[in-house]
Amino acid sequence: MNIILLGPPGSGKGTQAELLYQKYGLTHISPGELGRRGGDELAKKMLTYMRKGELAPSMLVMKLVQKNLGEHNLFDGFPRSLDQAEELDQNVVIDLVLELGLSDPEVIKRLSSRLECMKCKASYGPAHKPKKAGVCDLCGGELVKRKDDTPELIRKRLETYHDETEPLLEYYRPRNLVYTVNGNNTVKEVFKEIVRAVEARS
Ligand code: AMP
Repeated sequence: MNIILLGPPGSGKGTQAELLYQKYGLTHISPGELGRRGGDELAKKMLTYMRKGELAPSMLVMKLVQKNLGEHNLFDGFPRSLDQAEELDQNVVIDLVLELGLSDPEVIKRLSSRLECMKCKASYGPAHKPKKAGVCDLCGGELVKRKDDTPELIRKRLETYHDETEPLLEYYRPRNLVYTVNGNNTVKEVFKEIVRAVEARS
């Protein structure tokens, strides 16, 4: 099974991807996460674009994705443009596109106060506060602001989402692959709905 998580930054893709990974064991592919983790030359190159809030070149992202592809995949933050979607279609059969819908004001509100664990990458915000301020509930790691969660880069990333990524919904819709979930609901509610959509396709 191959699932795409599509939605604006801050819509909860990473959080839902982690829950889906725990339930179904799909290979989690997030170019953004691979870039932040650093490691090889490809990831380091990704980081130079991420720091500017720009999409990395598709050739680069594709190489990173191909290196990490499993038999069953969960794509989080990929594809982000039409050329990436077309390229992905050459490599795997997509079974489901889960759209996490969230309004622009809510995206800005969430990202402005988002904190992330330096160690395990768990995400925290107003609706999900850590028990102890600045400390991750899950692993005790330090909570920090992501470098691209600045007002200027948030605006830029949101604009890129509307211009380049959102049109992908129309790319997948004729194949009846798109299932939209209200990203405003709680993590638990969103996950319940996602599981319903996944089970209906299995
Ligand atoms: P994310 O962790 O998904 O929010 O991505 C963080 C940043 O990584 C984005 O703002 C882009 O700069 C870069 N990035 C992530 N995924 C892609 C992609 N599919 N194509 C191009 N750039 C990407």
